[in-house]
Amino acid sequence: MSVTGRTTLAAVIGDPIRHSRSPQILNAAFAATGLDWVYVALEVAEGRVPAALEGVRALGIAGLSVTMPHKTAVAVHLDRHDPAYEGDDLSPEARRLRAVNCVVNRDGALIGHNTDGAGFVASLRADAGFDPAGARCVVLGAGGAARALVLALAGAGADEVAVVNRTGSSAEAAAALAGGRGRVAGLDQVAKGDLVVNATPVGMDGTSLPLDPDLLRGGQLVADIIVEPVVTPLLREAEARGARTLGGLGMLAHQAAVAFEIWTGRTAPVEAMVAAARQH
Ligand code: NAP
Repeated sequence: MSVTGRTTLAAVIGDPIRHSRSPQILNAAFAATGLDWVYVALEVAEGRVPAALEGVRALGIAGLSVTMPHKTAVAVHLDRHDPAYEGDDLSPEARRLRAVNCVVNRDGALIGHNTDGAGFVASLRADAGFDPAGARCVVLGAGGAARALVLALAGAGADEVAVVNRTGSSAEAAAALAGGRGRVAGLDQVAKGDLVVNATPVGMDGTSLPLDPDLLRGGQLVADIIVEPVVTPLLREAEARGARTLGGLGMLAHQAAVAFEIWTGRTAPVEAMVAAARQH
C-alpha cells in the first residue's frame, strides 16, 4: 500500500480503540480490491461526537466506523429530525435501533447505518451454514448488539426470537424489535432454541459463563459474539456438550464487509477480511 495525496481516508472512532481489529480488516479489503483507500483508528472521548462528525465533514473522511461508546450519540446527531443537521439521515435499521456503527459521507451529508445485525446473519450463513429462516432463536442480553441481532434474526425469517436478560424492561424493548415473533423468556427456554447466542459481555474475562452450560443440548448452534477471547468459556462448554459453535470474529469481519460495500459500492473481499480478522 502506498498512501499519496489522492488516497481516500476511512476511520473508526471509539474509546478505547487501540485494540481494534478493524484497521487490519478494512486495509486488507482495500489491498485485496486495489482501492486507493486507507483506514485508521481514532480515539474520540465521550462527549466529542458532534466535533468528530464535523471533522469527518471538514476532512472529507469517506467512511466511518463507530464503536463503543459512541453508537447512540452518532445516531442522535445524524437524525434528520434535528434541524441543526439537516441533510444527514439514518438507515431504517439505525433508526429503529437508535444506534449507528457505520457512517457514509455522501458529499458532506452523513448517513448512519447499523451493519451489526446483517454481519451476524451473514456469519451464521457463511461460517456455520445456519439459515435463521424458520428457526427458534434465543438471544442472551438486550443491549446494543443484542438489539441488532433480534432485529436481523426476525428480518431473516426466524420463527421466534426469545430475549433473556437480567433487566426485564430492556428485554421487552429488545423483543419488541422482532414484532409478533419476539418475546421475553427465562433461562428455562434455552433448551428449546435451535440457535442460542450470547450478546452480553459475560465471558470476556475468559472465565465467566452467561448461563449454566447444562441448559444447552447437542444439536444446537451456540454462538458468542465476544471477539476476545476468540473461544469463550461458553463456546468451550457448548462444544463439550456436543453443540455446534460460532465465535464473534466472523460477525466482526462480515459487518465490516457490509460497511465496505456501503462506502465503496464494490463487492467486499469477504475471505480476505475474515483472514485478516483471524490473523490479528
Ligand atoms: P451493552 O449495550 O452494554 O449491553 C450489554 C448487555 O449485557 C445488557 O443487556 C446487559 O444487561 C448484559 N449484561 C452485562 N453484564 C452482565 C452480567 N454480568 N450478567 C448478565 N447480563 C449482563 O453492550 P453491547 O454493545 O451490546 O455489547 C455486548 C457484547 O457484544 C460485548 O462483548 C461486545 O464486545 C460484543 N460485540 C461484538 C460485536 C462483533 O462484531 N462480534 C459487535 C458488537 C458487540 P442489562 O440490560 O441488565 O444491563
